[in-house]
Amino acid sequence: MEEKNYILVTGGAGFIGSHTVVELIKNGKTPVIIDDFRNSSREMLNGIEKIVGSELIFHNIDVSNKNDLAAIFTKYSINGIIHFAADKAVGESVNNPLKYYKNNIGGLINCLECALEFNVENFLFSSSCTVYGDPEGSTTVTEESPQQDANSPYGATKQMGERILSDVVKSGVNLKVLNLRYFNPIGAHESGLIGELPIGRPNNLLPYVTQTAIGILEKLTVFGNTYNTPDGTCIRDYIHVVDLADAHVSGLDWLEKQSNSTFEIVNVGTGRGTSVLEIIHTFEKVSGKQLNWEFGVKRIGDVEQIFADVTKAKNLIHWDAKKSMEDAVRDAWNWEQKLRND
Ligand code: UDP
Repeated sequence: MEEKNYILVTGGAGFIGSHTVVELIKNGKTPVIIDDFRNSSREMLNGIEKIVGSELIFHNIDVSNKNDLAAIFTKYSINGIIHFAADKAVGESVNNPLKYYKNNIGGLINCLECALEFNVENFLFSSSCTVYGDPEGSTTVTEESPQQDANSPYGATKQMGERILSDVVKSGVNLKVLNLRYFNPIGAHESGLIGELPIGRPNNLLPYVTQTAIGILEKLTVFGNTYNTPDGTCIRDYIHVVDLADAHVSGLDWLEKQSNSTFEIVNVGTGRGTSVLEIIHTFEKVSGKQLNWEFGVKRIGDVEQIFADVTKAKNLIHWDAKKSMEDAVRDAWNWEQKLRND
């Protein structure tokens, strides 16, 4: 076995994973990437290599295959795990719940079993603000805000994942866990070499905006304009994916400094709420293009407004978001244009 401290990044070719790999390398870490490209592309790895100017360590592995996963721990001396690999389409999870429970829960259990078997103490988990459900009344959520029953199997896998991690730490094993609850990641690397690759028609707002502007989609429908918000449209906490990636580096640094087993939850957002109309206006401003959009009916299950209280992120892992909404929208648009030109 090679004597080096490697960070295993599951799902490292995905949207958040690929940007995190770049930030890890920039900060002197050596990621070992695994991905099975079920929801990502090999092109993303080429993009990362161009950005960092070095070759990546990569293995095509499905995290639900325990033997394949364990072989990675035998090959490399892993010092920390960042576990991104999971399915994430809310609608698909309603129609195919077993796929989600098998991959998201099975994959997490395999990673945890390997962590314990191979004495890997540092574990970073990708969770989501979806665990809060609809915060009703209070729009800012802290890590202590009450959770609601998940309204999709996808959401349930994130709640359950957090519970599994917390129970495992409570059982007295040697494990330090940082559970990051992401708000709405948007944007792309400023180089335009990596970004989001939605499969089929995007569900998320910003890829829908950029694909409409470039002519792949005809028109954006804004889901509802009678919400109890200043302009009637829903409010979210959109965070630049590079800031989000950076939170993993800060989180890992924090984990490595802890001497005892721990389980901590940290919100990763900007602390600012932005409405759908504000996103459209920002897009039109930074791109100089007029977007084809119309108001439509509310989307079932949409939360009216939610954004992060980021006090804990600042105090615990000494991280906060640096980039603006304009940066994020500009980078997403740059990525969309490069993607289609290539
Ligand atoms: N949204 C919209 N039109 C779309 C996609 C999204 O108006 O085609 C709105 C949606 O109602 C929500 C916001 O954009 O208020 C963010 O939606 P997204 O699916 O990106 O994130 P989530 O709802 O999961 O936070």
